[in-house]
Amino acid sequence: MGMQSMPRIVKDLSAMPVRPHLLDYPRTVADFNWQATAPWLDGLPAGGINIAYEAVDRHLARGRGARTAIRWRGKDGSRRDLSFADLAQATNRFANALSALGVGPGERVFVLMGRLPELYMAVLGALKARCVVSPLFSAFGPEPIATRAEMGDARVMVTTPELYMRKVKGLRERLPGLRHVILVGGAQAVAAAAAGDPSVHDWHTLVDACSPDFTIAATDPESMALLHFTSGTTGRPKGAVHVHGAVLAHAVTGYYALDLHEDDVFWCTADPGWVTGTSYGIIAPLVQGVTIVVVEAEFDAATWYKVLARERVTVWYTAPTAIRMMMKLGTEALRGHDLSALRFMSSVGEPLNPEAVVWGQQAFGLPFHDNWWQTETGGIMIANFAALDILPGSMGKPLPGITAAIVRRTEGGGVQPVDTPDTDGELALKTPWPSMMRGYLHEDERYRKCFVDGWYLTGDLAHRDAQGYYWFVGRADDVIKSSGHLIGPFEVESALMEHPAVAEAAVIGIPDAMAGEVVKAFVALKPGFEAGEALRRELLGHARKRLGAAVAPKDIEFRLNLPKTRSGKIMRRLLKARELGLPEGDLSTLESDEKK
Ligand code: AMP
Repeated sequence: MGMQSMPRIVKDLSAMPVRPHLLDYPRTVADFNWQATAPWLDGLPAGGINIAYEAVDRHLARGRGARTAIRWRGKDGSRRDLSFADLAQATNRFANALSALGVGPGERVFVLMGRLPELYMAVLGALKARCVVSPLFSAFGPEPIATRAEMGDARVMVTTPELYMRKVKGLRERLPGLRHVILVGGAQAVAAAAAGDPSVHDWHTLVDACSPDFTIAATDPESMALLHFTSGTTGRPKGAVHVHGAVLAHAVTGYYALDLHEDDVFWCTADPGWVTGTSYGIIAPLVQGVTIVVVEAEFDAATWYKVLARERVTVWYTAPTAIRMMMKLGTEALRGHDLSALRFMSSVGEPLNPEAVVWGQQAFGLPFHDNWWQTETGGIMIANFAALDILPGSMGKPLPGITAAIVRRTEGGGVQPVDTPDTDGELALKTPWPSMMRGYLHEDERYRKCFVDGWYLTGDLAHRDAQGYYWFVGRADDVIKSSGHLIGPFEVESALMEHPAVAEAAVIGIPDAMAGEVVKAFVALKPGFEAGEALRRELLGHARKRLGAAVAPKDIEFRLNLPKTRSGKIMRRLLKARELGLPEGDLSTLESDEKK
């Protein structure tokens, strides 16, 4: 497959304001081993490893308690800064509050709220109490909340009075195991929502009354810490189980892949309702002792620029959808914003089109560094590193400590790595690594099936080139087979994105009597372009020229928007189901404005 369409971005180390941590990739990879890296963590005084200790308390022990941990910027313009010492006390109080309620280690604390400071206190405080945390996206409706809370046996729900009234109260009968609800909000709203129900508590009354001292008990690194729900292609969401020991991977990826340095101001735009927003919106940067910016408001491109400039963000972690939104707006919108503090930008969650990487370079003077991982891997596995050249469109190279491979299934039901470069196949990771999921909740069989011959099978198809760079081809479920060709939707979408009229593209396979499947593309246009037959033909022609007739779409349909998950992933399977009149499957993670 001819992957590279844009020139290599060559890094000039002498022009970088900060020396990247990972300078010699081959040597670091050769020398790395997880055991020897264990001292990166401090470990609990009481024994074992606890995520919250590594993220918060250890910085106090090192005399860095006064450093700002969280810079919170409220919707209404209010601001709140919490030092590591403040965060230590606040999380201690919450841990004590859980104990006061009789909630013990292993019990599940669900967090359902917007990006308020209490969200961060609740997540880290519950981890200190050795409870299991499951953050939910606040935009979920009652049904997805109920399914997840039932599956995960929610014991406590931390939410706001508004969300409680609108979404949770009506579920209480269905959730007999949900013994406590803790509400964050104004006293009046909380009292009205609680309506005298003794199981509904006011955060301030409950938590503020608790002692700011708490000693984290010995924590088994293999004990469950986080429960993250992923949406399967159909049916019920899967609950991926992660343990406290995963924090070693957060430390290592924060250091190498995001290149976090002590003085950084870091902004991760993902909501903590998703794994990225927890692993990298909370844990990894705090473990590195870095200040995180938390923006309560929903985002648009203009807000991004404002926040980046005003907060002097140095390292930014975002997603392809966000980047495509900025591209749609054009570089004009960037004018007048002082982004001189920004030194490293990265992206995750979906394939990052080469066009977007290059656009970053033009607009910001910095390229976007794509990286790849999944809920199941718990942390970044493949990345473009600060000091390594970028091949636009590639996900980069495996992290030190991670062995990736393209594997083939063998006849005996096993798998084998393919050593020849420039081959496509399923992307697999050699087990184990610290943040590898330890199970799918209540689904042992499904979990076991992910592991074969010492490899974790990702369900993604990729391509490895002769230089060791990995290229995303598509989810195995989304790949199109047409007249004997295996077509990755990403390749076709990226070619369409090169056309100046195209803001977003999604490609699916349509059954065809002759070819098996043919490619169909859905396209959303940039402002100022008119959907119509002339443009349709022009795009078909452009794609044919770029990709060849065998791979180019046979049909293009214009859409105002493409259906996306709340984490910004284009839902190709939904486009396909609608196109073919098939069942739509689980839509709980779909952005509501796309629901029919
Ligand atoms: P989730 O577990 O919901 O975070 O989704 C993980 C999936 O998102 C992966 O298996 C990929 O299909 C996709 N994904 C994540 N990051 C990337 C990336 N950098 N390039 C391409 N696909 C990605």
